[in-house]
Amino acid sequence: MIRVCAEERQVGIIPLARIALTPKFKNMNDKSIKFAPGAIVSVMVAVAVDRAYSYKVPMGMEVQRGSIVMVALGPRPTLGVVWGVPKDQQAHNRLKDIEHCFEVNPLSEELMKLVDWVARYTLAKPGMVLRGVLRSKEALDPPKPIIGYTYSGITPERMSNARSRVLEIFTRDEGAAGIAWPKSALIGESSVSASVVEGLVKVGSLSKVELPPSRAYEAPDVDFSSSDLNPHQKKALEEIRAANIEGKNTVLLDGVTGSGKTRIFFEAVADVLRQNKQILILLPEIALTQSFVDRFAERFGTKPAQWHSDVTPAQRAKVWRGVLNGDVRAVLGARSALFLPFSELGMIVLDEEHDGAFKQSDGVNYHARDMAVVRASLAGANVILSSATPSVESRNNANEGRYGHVLIKQRHMDAKLPDIKTIDMRSEGPEKGSWIAPELAREIFTTIDKGEQVLLFLNRRGYAPLTVCRSCGHQYQCADCSAWLVEHRFLGKLACHYCGQEIDTPTACTNCHVEGSLTAVGPGIERVAEEAASRFPEARQVILSSDMGSSAQIRQRFAEISNGDYDLIIGTQLVAKGHHFEKLTLVGVLDADLGLAHGDPRAAEKTFQLLTQVTGRAGRAAKSGRAYLQTYNPEHAVIKTMISGDREGFYAHELEVRKSSALPPFGRLAALIISASEHSEAKAYARHLLSKAPQGDGVRLFGPADAPILLVRGRYRVRILAQSAKQFDLSGYVRFWLEGANKVKGNLRVQVDIDPVSFY
Ligand code: ADP
Ligand code: ZN
Ligand code: ZN
Repeated sequence: MIRVCAEERQVGIIPLARIALTPKFKNMNDKSIKFAPGAIVSVMVAVAVDRAYSYKVPMGMEVQRGSIVMVALGPRPTLGVVWGVPKDQQAHNRLKDIEHCFEVNPLSEELMKLVDWVARYTLAKPGMVLRGVLRSKEALDPPKPIIGYTYSGITPERMSNARSRVLEIFTRDEGAAGIAWPKSALIGESSVSASVVEGLVKVGSLSKVELPPSRAYEAPDVDFSSSDLNPHQKKALEEIRAANIEGKNTVLLDGVTGSGKTRIFFEAVADVLRQNKQILILLPEIALTQSFVDRFAERFGTKPAQWHSDVTPAQRAKVWRGVLNGDVRAVLGARSALFLPFSELGMIVLDEEHDGAFKQSDGVNYHARDMAVVRASLAGANVILSSATPSVESRNNANEGRYGHVLIKQRHMDAKLPDIKTIDMRSEGPEKGSWIAPELAREIFTTIDKGEQVLLFLNRRGYAPLTVCRSCGHQYQCADCSAWLVEHRFLGKLACHYCGQEIDTPTACTNCHVEGSLTAVGPGIERVAEEAASRFPEARQVILSSDMGSSAQIRQRFAEISNGDYDLIIGTQLVAKGHHFEKLTLVGVLDADLGLAHGDPRAAEKTFQLLTQVTGRAGRAAKSGRAYLQTYNPEHAVIKTMISGDREGFYAHELEVRKSSALPPFGRLAALIISASEHSEAKAYARHLLSKAPQGDGVRLFGPADAPILLVRGRYRVRILAQSAKQFDLSGYVRFWLEGANKVKGNLRVQVDIDPVSFY
């Protein structure tokens, strides 16, 4: 058994941050080789299959590695990409022809290698990873030409006011007659309806012509505005440049909140744009993009192309095509933008690199931060990881010299970091039924009195996390998940935060039928807002969480906050990140312990990051800020770090803890989540898996154990955790393990999560 693991390791995973082109890739077909009619090629189809299939190149077609094609897979035409030549070249007379080859540039070598790499590392099917690349079918067809109109010189027999307004445009001065007008522009300029223009075509006064499609996006202008960096920022930029020159492709830009990291990486971006390379900037949240787009435009004179779930299919097609043919030079996107078909990628920036939203945990379970480093190294591009609270992984890579490390300890204009205090909930806590301690309440009054803003932070959506019946003790639980239903009072619903199921909040207990017996237990932000409204009736308050409206509405709220329209902001982690509100000087964290209790090896890190980010919203401009942490554990290491401000000490301590228990970044983890609609079935298969586990050097297996949230969407979940040394190819090990186990049948499912970040 050990033998096979060793074999696996030879082809195995290249350590992140040190990836080089392996021989496996060099042997692949040269990109420039064209395959003529009659040739047999392997095509990776963008569906859940394990390998590429063989097809024939038909008469009149020529393809190459990377060509995007349509092939028949079973009865259905399916999108695919020419991957190379099949390994075995026998008896191919029954092969199907490629149906169609799209007239777009082939995918870059680098992107195809990335697909293979991600599939191998995450154990996803390569076709599924490729599907993440071919995200816009519309982009593959030629863009629709724009219809325009020219003047034929013929005056219509019947003239009207509207008609003459249109024709006037073509006759108003010399040369105007020869100009073709796009339909929308012509209608707008003459203020007529489309039917007037069509009428003029019918009588022969105007002719329809096809205009070339408009350029997708303006290229960013690197000289649009001056860089204006302060001395600390200039020094940081020089350090980034120096690290890149030294051959460190990845740099950790590790600067306190408000140090101006965005300005700094914009200049590094400008360097790369000057070299005529493309840029990708990844953000964790769509909610952040709007203000980011504006800042980009202030610096570069034009907006970047955007790529995230809110972008319309037509826009997507435009961006995808523009990225592929090089028209689009800069993209701002969510993690999925990592798979866009850049051909001249020069830099990837991850803003808020520590953010958990960069990890995708359904479908292909990849971490955009790690895969960005891989893609950049395949593309010969650079990476900037920017954060005020870097992940422990990135700090370790920086400490060990694999990444450049640029540290900024000062805020811009030397604005002070907030002064943080704890409120001990055991002795100084609020009265029963209230969530805001007296000392915090006094601070809120004074702050609002001075015309400044307050943020009350509680990372819990809804009104109350639990509803019970006072009469019979019934607790409202989701039928399909082991989770309580969260009351959302605005909506009048009880909702499950795991599967999204909702019921109308009953007026009588559904168990004992006593009217008005239901009671809310514990606070969510809606309940805090209720208390705040009665205690600070003068304050203009706004409540913000991801369920409070569309992205556009949420963006609007952010703009209003910046504008000073509110005194009191009550929010979840949605407001914790990246925003800069000049008037905000007081932050109250209502439950600083919320993240600490979990059986999650990253709990301390995540809590440190969240508390630093949220308190970092205070006092970013001229005014200095204060923050209060309500806690039952003032002695906890994370809480003490917050008070002392000793972030370096925190990282040193946390790295020590990880090292002593061989947890990431000093070891590897892989989670197997076995689920089924019967608990016994999931448990039985998990036990079977465990019995089939190969002996690997130093691989330790934990479980099977019921997942902390046992039931999600009607499926019982059992977990096995594998832990290995850093150098070990844990992906290869898990693949070999699963191949040796019984096939998964019926409604059983095994999900593999390499480098898991959530453990529920
Ligand atoms: P970070 O991302 O490090 O938290 P930001 O880039 O958001 O910091 O900068 C914080 C605030 O300070 C922003 O409003 C930014 O415009 C301002 N700022 C930072 N550097 C400068 C500078 N050199 N000149 C003018 N304003 C700056
Ligand atoms: Zn009851
Ligand atoms: Zn549920």
